[in-house]
Amino acid sequence: MKTYNITLLKGDGIGPEIVDQAVKVLNTAANKFGFAVHYTEALIGGAAIDATGEPLPQATVDSCLASDSVLLGAVGGYKWDGLTGKQRPEAGLLGIRAALGLFANLRPAKIYGPLKSACPLRPDIIGDSMDIMVVRELTGGIYFGERGRKTVDGVEAAYDTEYYSKPEITRIAKVAFETAMKRGGKLHSIDKANVLESSRLWRETVNEMAASYPQVEVNHLYIDNAAMQLVRDPKQFDVLVTSNIFGDILSDEASQIAGSIGMLASASLGEGSLGLYEPIHGSAPDIAGRNIANPLATILSVAMMLRYSLDELEAADAIEKAVETVLENGLRTADIYTEGTQKIGTDAMGDAVAAAL
Ligand code: NAD
Repeated sequence: MKTYNITLLKGDGIGPEIVDQAVKVLNTAANKFGFAVHYTEALIGGAAIDATGEPLPQATVDSCLASDSVLLGAVGGYKWDGLTGKQRPEAGLLGIRAALGLFANLRPAKIYGPLKSACPLRPDIIGDSMDIMVVRELTGGIYFGERGRKTVDGVEAAYDTEYYSKPEITRIAKVAFETAMKRGGKLHSIDKANVLESSRLWRETVNEMAASYPQVEVNHLYIDNAAMQLVRDPKQFDVLVTSNIFGDILSDEASQIAGSIGMLASASLGEGSLGLYEPIHGSAPDIAGRNIANPLATILSVAMMLRYSLDELEAADAIEKAVETVLENGLRTADIYTEGTQKIGTDAMGDAVAAAL
């Protein structure tokens, strides 16, 4: 039987509670679809600081590198708020992404039918559903380019540089094309090619690669238009591929359209199949340990892991379908509760998804 080695980074706050539910669902999927999972737990964030003095111990990096995939809860909390820079829990998160060479961030923004009322857009704009995937370049561009401050003729100035090499664009575009192939076959590449030279190279590269993916329909949009189209008619989008800074903004915009922070998963991918999967929300210290956190974003992160790292597509589909079924049956954690539905706890939500599976 195929066995996958998964490193669990439960982290802080609600991290352990929500990861436990995701493991419950992954074990159910393993039984149903005929594979086995071997788990190794490793420390990150505040929990790692308390145990070892640093947010990302080398043992954690080693465990992740030796795995088929990594599932992360969340890091951070009041206890460590006084720490600065590389001592902070969040430094563990940036560190593990860098150590694993994760350059592509996939963030789906999906509205589930039963949760449509959480969407801030008018029902006629959303229609039956919305299902968008933002593929954001994560380790290049203006956040990593040359920067500085200088004084020119007595005037203080500062600069940051948007820099992309062709291989950097090629590898993120490849992830986007492959993602589009696994979804609706439609790709929007976002740039500012009317103004920026780096965007012109971006657009040329995407166009060159399009020849190798004839099944994918490719469109180009300027970032300003994309931001507008996302609220005007989000249904037109399937996969969007963006630079680091444009994706930072668009993925947050898209997640707000989806409405509920407790529902949104994410994946960070590198050159190989190893990926890091995590909910987009934080450690929610305000509700930690009370069995009220929504575990669905983490459970949906497991579905992404099965699809993008482990190639267990049937199991991925089945978990997503089970989440939909549970919502259709009116079960809700407190954050997505509305009148007429049934409020249940973190544990019970994990049980319900496992049962639906
Ligand atoms: P947060 O996402 O943790 O919480 C924002 C709000 O959403 C809170 O009211 C919280 O209770 C609620 N919420 C979040 N996830 C939920 C869930 N699954 N179910 C129900 N409600 C949920 O963001 P924050 O409050 O800005 O940050 C809290 C801590 O998390 C900070 O230490 C921050 O640095 C850290 N953080 C970590 C990550 C990460 O690990 N990837 C991301 C963002 C923030």
